[in-house]
Amino acid sequence: MEKIVSLCKRRGFIYPGSEIYGGLKGTWDYGPLGGELKFNLKQEWWKTMVKERDDVVGFSGSILMNSKVWEGSGHMQNFTDPLVECKICHQRFRTDQEDAIKEHEKEHGKKASWTEPKRFNLLVEAKLGVVEGEKNTTYLRGEITQGVHVNFKNILNSSRLKIPFGVAQIGKAFRNEITPGNFTYRSVEFEQMELQYYVKPDEKESMKQYDYFKKIRMDWYKNLGIKKENLRFREHKKDELAHYARAAWDIEYKTPFAAPDSEASWKELEGIHHRGDWDLLRHQQFSGQDMNYFDENPLISGKEKFIPWVIETSGGIDRAILFFLIDAYCEEAERTILKLHPKLAPYKVAVFPLLKNKPDLVKKADGIYKELKKYFNVAWDDRGNIGKRYFSQDEIGTPFCITVDFETLENNTITVRDRDSMKQTRIKIEEIKSYINDKLT
Ligand code: ATP
Repeated sequence: MEKIVSLCKRRGFIYPGSEIYGGLKGTWDYGPLGGELKFNLKQEWWKTMVKERDDVVGFSGSILMNSKVWEGSGHMQNFTDPLVECKICHQRFRTDQEDAIKEHEKEHGKKASWTEPKRFNLLVEAKLGVVEGEKNTTYLRGEITQGVHVNFKNILNSSRLKIPFGVAQIGKAFRNEITPGNFTYRSVEFEQMELQYYVKPDEKESMKQYDYFKKIRMDWYKNLGIKKENLRFREHKKDELAHYARAAWDIEYKTPFAAPDSEASWKELEGIHHRGDWDLLRHQQFSGQDMNYFDENPLISGKEKFIPWVIETSGGIDRAILFFLIDAYCEEAERTILKLHPKLAPYKVAVFPLLKNKPDLVKKADGIYKELKKYFNVAWDDRGNIGKRYFSQDEIGTPFCITVDFETLENNTITVRDRDSMKQTRIKIEEIKSYINDKLT
């Protein structure tokens, strides 16, 4: 982990938030390459979950919402973690983080003692208004889910969607986490990618759709290159189920956060939840607005009305990025490589003139660079020797490097060097675009 954290900072993936002022715990900033990686990841998610489907539309809700939303959703009452405080140094832990508690007890030896567990609400407060004393307390959204459900009727009335259909969203959420940590894994500000899929209130049919989305989501991570053996499903135990959940399975990733292969090394990446009618029914009760869906059912004369059930897929963008980075990181002989899927890699290709003091080579390489930039994110490097340039691109995951040499000037061919196999292939300049495109589809 130390090596990954250090690479992230050195090469511009992820920096500690507000670093020059001593930081702000649980916040992180994405640098030039991290920003690209994040953008690519979101695009891939949007493509799979929205663009390629007929039954899903996109949505982008606001972070600040009327505080009654959180009463309706149950978060004011139930969005809590049990917390214990060390009586010696006042450090706080979630009671379910048994490993961290044991570790802490070792530090204090026999003297270690804890306060009684106390429930602690995770919603982050914000004050709205300009006049002191008249400010309204509201909350930064603790999950992006509720924006979709409170707009259920707006979305229905402004589209021609018929059940089953889904609403997809990507956006920031905020939580007063008791113990932020493990790099970006648990942050106070993070991004989520979620699908809320509305289905008929039918036990058998909804479970079929539930199983289908479990598979879709697991396949998504595998298709983007996470190693199969590092992913698994875990079903929530009865006492672990969130207040809204009828069924819940997590997609988990085998992290290096705990002893290798220990149960504690498996950490949540995405949750697939069967939310039943919890959200719409509660918002109907709390807002007084009718949340029924009217179905034209050919088998029954007239219309059928019901409160739909919801299947949710809820993933963390920051966790996904972290796990993609961990999974892609490897060291081989003298080089460090990020074996990121080309679709996720910040740069798809790097262009090098063999020598920087040969104007003909530089001009030719510059032409290729400018042409490719119309289609891809392209890096340029003319420093030092070619070997060093390759290694520098390997470390940030660039899948292809193109070298323009003297032969290029003679016959318009270049060498393409593959990041993972290090194999070099000579191809015609006009073939580069389709060569790279093939790897991106
Ligand atoms: P955990 O048990 O780890 O606190 P959770 O079960 O509360 O997570 P959900 O409410 O299901 O998480 O949120 C959906 C997804 O949002 C999670 O699978 C995770 O990827 C992401 N997520 C949740 N909390 C955080 C956080 N504090 N920092 C980064 N990502 C988070």
